[in-house]
Amino acid sequence: MTAVSYQPRLTMAGVEVSECTECGRRAAPPTGACPWCRGPVRETHVEAEGTVWSSTVVHIEVRPGQPAPFGMAYVDLGESGPRVLVVMEDAVRLPRGTRVRMEAAEQGSWWARGVVSA
Ligand SMILES: [Zn+2]
Repeated sequence: MTAVSYQPRLTMAGVEVSECTECGRRAAPPTGACPWCRGPVRETHVEAEGTVWSSTVVHIEVRPGQPAPFGMAYVDLGESGPRVLVVMEDAVRLPRGTRVRMEAAEQGSWWARGVVSA
């Protein structure tokens, strides 16, 4: 049985994604085939910056080491995605369109920091 990561990975080159060689859509974490058209994919990276699509503040503790409250956001990475769910540095809701940057965190996870308002 193969272990599967459900969390995107941030490396020095950017965020690891798979890009479909047929329809061009991207997925993070990388998949073995395109989730939309089942076409072949190649692994690549996208820049670790993006735009907030939606965000919220979570007021309950959902896992050890993640004290509440904390912010979460769906962020569209790079110019054309993918959209990823990230924990925010601060427990605040960010307006849609806010520019954020992914930063490495402990234990291989990551969080996002607002950098420029839309
Ligand atoms: Zn595809």
